[in-house]
Amino acid sequence: MVPERRLREELIKFGRLCYERHLLVAMDGNLSALLPDGTILCTKAGCHKGFLVDDDLVVIDRKGRKLRGAGNPTSEMLMHLACYEERPDCRAVIHAHPPISIAFTIANVSMARCVLPEVVLTLGTVPTVPYATTGTTSLADKIRPYVRDHDAILMDTHGAVALGTSVLEAFCRLETVEHTALITKTARDLGGAKELDPKEAAHLRSMGLKRYGGPPAAVARADQPGADLPPACVGCSGCANPAPQGVAPRAELKMARVVSQPLVASPVVEAAITHAVLRSLQS
Ligand SMILES: [Zn+2]
Repeated sequence: MVPERRLREELIKFGRLCYERHLLVAMDGNLSALLPDGTILCTKAGCHKGFLVDDDLVVIDRKGRKLRGAGNPTSEMLMHLACYEERPDCRAVIHAHPPISIAFTIANVSMARCVLPEVVLTLGTVPTVPYATTGTTSLADKIRPYVRDHDAILMDTHGAVALGTSVLEAFCRLETVEHTALITKTARDLGGAKELDPKEAAHLRSMGLKRYGGPPAAVARADQPGADLPPACVGCSGCANPAPQGVAPRAELKMARVVSQPLVASPVVEAAITHAVLRSLQS
């Protein structure tokens, strides 16, 4: 059990790191950790997570009622309570607004795919929860089945939630989601993100769940074919895998198609380029 004093220091430190790593800005996001007595230490509403001080943290009970501290608990407290309720192994939750990951949800591109071996090994896939208004019971209820099975999730057009057995572990998972989004986006910009061979993906995930653990529901499925990976990752849905564009035609999960188009400049731009070249040749 980590004492309250250290958990306070960790929430302040990882709030700053979330800001420095561009995982949130301004008043975005919120962090929480489970105290030894089962109550929850969380950030208060309306404070900058990059510059947290001890007074920005409040203690709430498992119903969300404030027990100690100044100010109100985070408006997204219901999301944190749902994580602790669904996952008895969870001791810390970080919610942030990582920009590239959010862009994936806005573009309807799923991150619940097997692209990077080490991410499949340690985190599995990252599903997207359908849109619901921030801070509502509806959103908290929507994330419940997802956090039961996953250590990190995305919320459509909103942000990410990462769970951990420690604040550090939750932070690592959040960071991994955004790093994966950046790599996948860059690959797509370069022409397409290929996916892992389904057999290798299943092998890696099974190995990872046994070696590093994960959600208890997922660990229980470690020996099943495909472990906890979505069908689109392990079952060929009509395409040759790994698909060149990372698109399975009949995949249940939404995936945007990558269409490579030649870069064509407009006539105005072309004329300007020609003019500049001619001038440089004349000078
Ligand atoms: Zn949010």
